[in-house]
Amino acid sequence: MEDCVFCKIRKGELPSTILYSDDDFMIIKDINPRAKIHLVAIPYTHVPHIEMMTEEGACVLGKIILKISHLQEELGLVGGYRLLINQGENAAVSHVHIHILGGEKLKEF
Ligand SMILES: [Zn+2]
Repeated sequence: MEDCVFCKIRKGELPSTILYSDDDFMIIKDINPRAKIHLVAIPYTHVPHIEMMTEEGACVLGKIILKISHLQEELGLVGGYRLLINQGENAAVSHVHIHILGGEKLKEF
């Protein structure tokens, strides 16, 4: 999608700090961190809502969750972390993505 921030980051049209990438998704640092470690996992396929996602897209979300668990030491997440899935225009960027928060004791909500 042309005016999507995450699609622009993927195409290299906007700067980001990429910590991991493969054929399906990337993990970048959030530019407005809400925790000591705040990362964003972005599937490459632009899908605004989970209900519009294919099974393949849903599998990518599962792959992201597994990969985060495999990279937790490298990403600074040892001791626990929180994953938060955002979708739709009420969640700021209308491109399904997962926030990764950790690196400290997180507040309950
Ligand atoms: Zn997008």
